[in-house]
Amino acid sequence: MTPKLERAIVNCFKVRHGKQVVGTDKTNLVGASLEELTSVVQDLSEPSYRARQIYAGIYCRRLRSWEQFTDLSKGLRKRLEDAYVIEYPPVAKTFESRDGTRRYLFEVSPGQKIESVFIPEEQRETFCISTQVGCAVECLFCVTGKLPMRRNLSAGEIVAQVLSLEQCRGCAPKRLNIVIMGMGEPLHNYENVMKAVRLMTDKEGMAISPRRITLSTSGVVPQIKRLAAEPVIPNLAISLNATTDAVRDVLIPINRKWDIATLLDACRRFPLEGRQRITFEYVLIEEVNDTPEDARRLVALLEGLRKKINLIPLNADPWVPLRTPSEDRILAFQKILTDHSITVYIRRPRGQDVSAACGMLAGRDQAQGDLLHPPPKPVEESALARLGL
Ligand code: SAH
Ligand code: SF4
Repeated sequence: MTPKLERAIVNCFKVRHGKQVVGTDKTNLVGASLEELTSVVQDLSEPSYRARQIYAGIYCRRLRSWEQFTDLSKGLRKRLEDAYVIEYPPVAKTFESRDGTRRYLFEVSPGQKIESVFIPEEQRETFCISTQVGCAVECLFCVTGKLPMRRNLSAGEIVAQVLSLEQCRGCAPKRLNIVIMGMGEPLHNYENVMKAVRLMTDKEGMAISPRRITLSTSGVVPQIKRLAAEPVIPNLAISLNATTDAVRDVLIPINRKWDIATLLDACRRFPLEGRQRITFEYVLIEEVNDTPEDARRLVALLEGLRKKINLIPLNADPWVPLRTPSEDRILAFQKILTDHSITVYIRRPRGQDVSAACGMLAGRDQAQGDLLHPPPKPVEESALARLGL
């Protein structure tokens, strides 16, 4: 069997029938590509079309146990059962917000928690999924960035979030959007994220249109260039969040490596089909990046780009020593952009009461509250001083 096959489940605990089972020598096939499944069936001396049946079973029919594979013989099902599992990371808890948003807490390995968020809307539903346990970018305004970076999620752990949410959404499916905007910097986990995107978009599998998938990045420029050359490209969202390098350097430390000009240059070269646009996310932080001068600089910076802008009023958290602007300031900022004929949306927080809103994801196992374990890194006074706070 190819050594590439994900063995994430091996030696990691699982919850079965309420019991913890520590260690298993079975390999999880969620996250395996068709090529990898082909080598699995070859190992079992089966014809390669069996790989297609297993692939369709996992990703298209969303089967979760070998006995459901009625298109395979009983003998083959038994041999598969002996060595392989189809496992999604266990949902440790779910938290439902007053607005219907639901936060799912998954325990991907002992003590390592990630979250996905189900956001129901009138015409559609959005799944926000994570790509890492923690995040190494350490943005000043983001609670995820206060956590220690533990590890990348495997492709299987990424697609399993979508499969899990689909199965426990508890209402009739609507038009689905996937936003890769949960915990982690997706372009720091490039290989696994792109493998997950291929699995999600494959017509023989999960069959989600790449136009309905959006990948958000803090601006890892070399990987944006790499993404631009992929055969399947999701929509791109850039967390810009500042209009000067002096401020962005403090808010998003990787800006010191790839500054605003370099980032926007990569955006200008990014391939866009038809009416596709790049989304620029802009977290509004009082007196840091929300002045009329910022709005005017933003217009100038993005001149000529095919874009829309999402303004995200800061989601305040005890661990983030920054303030959300007043409604007046938010609307004044938006008006300057709309006066320049820019498409701009204000993203109102969803699921804030259960810590499910942007930047609040931190593996909390209560609806709200301070993070007790592990303790987040305190914000350095010098960083605030550089923002004039
Ligand atoms: N790491 C990626 C994707 C996850 S963050 C990225 O940074 O783009 C998803 C979005 O949440 C980003 O646009 C980020 O700027 C925003 N965000 C982070 N912390 C926030 C906060 N406290 N309030 C509002 N939005 C926040
Ligand atoms: Fe990481 Fe995105 Fe949070 Fe920044 S905003 S710390 S890149 S998850």
